[in-house]
Formats: sequence, structure tokens, C-alpha cells
Amino acid sequence: MQKGELVFLGTGGGRFNLVSQVRRTGGFRINGDLNIHVDPGPGALISSLAYSQDPTKINWLIVTHNHIDHTNDAGLMIEAMDRDRQAHRCGIIASKSILSGDEYKERTISSYHTNKLSEKIIARHGSKILFPKKNPKASLAPIPVRHEDKTGFGFVLSMNNRKIGYTSDTEYYSGMGVHYSGCDILVVNNLKARADNVPGHMCSKDTARLLSQAKPKLALLSHMGLRLIRASPEREAARIQAESGVRTVAAKDGMRISLSSLKIFFPSKSKRQ
Ligand SMILES: [Zn+2]
Repeated sequence: MQKGELVFLGTGGGRFNLVSQVRRTGGFRINGDLNIHVDPGPGALISSLAYSQDPTKINWLIVTHNHIDHTNDAGLMIEAMDRDRQAHRCGIIASKSILSGDEYKERTISSYHTNKLSEKIIARHGSKILFPKKNPKASLAPIPVRHEDKTGFGFVLSMNNRKIGYTSDTEYYSGMGVHYSGCDILVVNNLKARADNVPGHMCSKDTARLLSQAKPKLALLSHMGLRLIRASPEREAARIQAESGVRTVAAKDGMRISLSSLKIFFPSKSKRQ
């Protein structure tokens, strides 16, 4: 077993942040018995290089739904995974919309790229995915979401003797906390401080409710919208922590979390800003 860590390659969410890149939008890496890149949005490649996360070392991609802020760099990451003709060791777990096409029969990751990978697995709620198929090193339980892409999913990943949860983009729904109970780390896509009329996303009140039910050892806020980023993500995290009783930290681009100790390492300046 390698020493594991989770590394944020982007913590910004929402359209205004996406086009201004105040926070990066590259998703995150989980390095352990497998090296996994989750939701490689715009800038995932540049961000990987900036934070010393060699993209040629990725074994698996997990892409939770077909929105551009989660998929944009997936083809580039597959090019990197394929660089040393190691693709036969690599795979992707993704929504049906990504691997089979959406309702318009469009695919946000080309079949040219996904065909380079030896294993392509559609995440379906209620199933447990062991991967890779030969000598599995990790397992993933897809969790339902309430979001525009109905085939999207959150997950609980078991690897390196840890359970790592990720809500992906979703609104809060009753029973959500049960799916994520028992997680060591839970990454929550917390777009807004307050609820508004935009459905399909979580705000701080929802996150506090989720955390008080799921009770992870550590919660990390990510996919934050520009208004929340400009206010104070740290104050928001403190508020959620007080409400839920769960240790809650607002993630930063380049932040690393040790999977063994759950210690957090704040980023030093990236090599390429
Ligand atoms: Zn989305």
C-alpha cells in the first residue's frame, strides 16, 4: 500500500468562477493504491502540472456527469495516461451520459479517447464497482444525485483502508446522509452560502444538514461559487462546523490531505501560477 493523499486541483464552481478562473476547476486527485483523477474540468492538465500531480501516473478517471466544468480536460488526461502506451492498465468510471451519450446522443468525451482505455464502466446506483476487474484495488459505490444530468452520481470510494465520499453536483435530498455515513473524508460541492432559486446544487444549510447525518471524520467544501469565494469560505466552513459538529474545512487549490493521518497541508505557491 502506498502512502495516500487527496489533492485539490480546483475548488471553484459555478459559471462566473468558471470563466474568470478565480479558483481553478480541475477536480481532484486521489493518490493511493491507484491514482485516480476525479472530474477533470477546465484546467485539470495545467493544474496537475502546477501542483506536481504527474498526469501520466493516473490509472483511473472518475467523471460524475456530463457538464463541461467536470469533463472538459478528460480527453487531455487520457492523452497523458496513454503517453507511455500504458493505457491497457487504465480505465474510466463515468455516467451513462458520458459513456453512451446523452439524450441528444452527444458525448462530452470523444469515443476516440474513451476507446484508448481498457476498462469503461458505467456507474449505476445500487451497484458496487470493484476495479480494476483483475486484482481490484479499490471499490466504488455510486450514490444518487438530484441534478440536471439524471445519470450523474456521487460516490463513496474505498481505497487504502479509507472511505472517501464525494457528493458531486446535487441538491440535498432526504436520505442523502445515510448514503455517506461511515466516510472518513467527505468532499461536498457547496456552491452557495444561501439557498436561491437555482435548483440542483447545495448551499451551506444543506451541507450542515448532510454532515450532521453522515458524520464524516472530515468534511471539505469545494466547487464554491464566486460569491461564496469572495465572501469568506473559511467563515462558511466554521458556521457549518458549528451547526453540524463535524470538522469542516474550506478546500483551497493545491491543498493536500493525508489519507493516513487526515492531516491537511495548505499549498505553497504553485510552480506555475
Ligand atoms: Zn453539474
